[in-house]
Amino acid sequence: MKVLVINCGSSSLKYQLIDSESEEVLAKGLCERIGIDGRLVYQKEGCEKEITNAPMPTHKEGIQMVLDALVNDKTGAIKDLSEINAIGHRVVHGGEKFSGSVIVNDDMIQALEECTDLAPLHNPANLIGIRVCQELMPGVPMVGVFDTAFHQTMPPKAYLYGLPYEYYEKYGVRRYGFHGTSHSYVSKELARFLGLDINNCKLIVCHLGNGASVSAVMNGKCVDTSMGMTPLEGLVMGTRSGDIDPAIIEFISKKENLDLEGVMEVLNKKSGVYGLSKGLSSDFRDLGDAAENGNKYAAEALEVFSYHVLKTIGAYAAAMNGVDAIAFTAGIGENDPLVREMVVKNLGYLGVTLDEEKNKVRGKDTKISTEDSKVAVCVIPTNEELAICRETVALLK
Ligand code: AMP
Repeated sequence: MKVLVINCGSSSLKYQLIDSESEEVLAKGLCERIGIDGRLVYQKEGCEKEITNAPMPTHKEGIQMVLDALVNDKTGAIKDLSEINAIGHRVVHGGEKFSGSVIVNDDMIQALEECTDLAPLHNPANLIGIRVCQELMPGVPMVGVFDTAFHQTMPPKAYLYGLPYEYYEKYGVRRYGFHGTSHSYVSKELARFLGLDINNCKLIVCHLGNGASVSAVMNGKCVDTSMGMTPLEGLVMGTRSGDIDPAIIEFISKKENLDLEGVMEVLNKKSGVYGLSKGLSSDFRDLGDAAENGNKYAAEALEVFSYHVLKTIGAYAAAMNGVDAIAFTAGIGENDPLVREMVVKNLGYLGVTLDEEKNKVRGKDTKISTEDSKVAVCVIPTNEELAICRETVALLK
């Protein structure tokens, strides 16, 4: 089967065309600056990237350009659109309605609309992607794969907040967790890589990218995760604050004369390592370079980030009463040996020893702990698009 994987954001759209049998990526790219001006990046397997600037007032023009590029006479990856057998959509928030992937139909779309309150920035874009594909590719089966679904196995003690219970009943205020497709994929890959039985082991997955979250996976099921009702909770991130004392919101609002929206903007876009480094960068490459050149704020930002990852690993080892293996994944987890070292060197109490030479690795399945380490620590690259492709095929079979 050839599966088109679509990940629709508010002004961008990432796509991959994957052959599900060989798991080969036939073409991939993105549409950027949708609604602003418009740029298509397209790359056929084994070829150079092509960049086309063209107006994209809405996602519809973007997706149409992707489809045209896929069947282009010279650089297309397929001859005819009828070769696309299915479309897999990444959907951010499935609330409590979706504990797994689902085939897209009217009921699914309506249920998704009802979750929009919970992810006002993301779900509307995902819905647009689904509707545009229905219009441009009528009759092609589609599947929605939710960021929240993998975490639906969490027990109430992990997902309930210490708030009036009615808020949960009336409004669905609870922990949902995100990056679920990645946590699910990486936990399975970690078990496979180490020869562990996924149904009989305790794993911790650290998905450290611009957004960052940790999950505790026991016997293949998520039992806790650091992101909450929204992706703002948990670790200190690129520009997001992660956990703070909730009273800070009122305090800063008064001191800085900001309304609620203004404070939320600070917590989402001006905080995290970006805010800690006094606006230097949210990119760990910049922060690493600056810290090496003596920038105290960049060095502290890296320490705060790593410390929060370290504390969360400790919490999840406690939550599962032990841990067999830990995985690092996503942009930072796969590529930043310094952050991994800052975390793993402090896990001695779990019997973990870091292999400093192996920790230099970037972006491939590697055990970075020593052979005698009691808990194995690995780098496991995530692949959310492949995970979505696999889910899509599994559901349609
Ligand atoms: P993601 O959200 O998973 O795409 O991760 C993006 C983040 O990964 C970037 O903002 C960088 O901070 C980080 N990153 C990517 N490549 C590297 C690298 N070579 N070294 C350190 N950090 C990196």
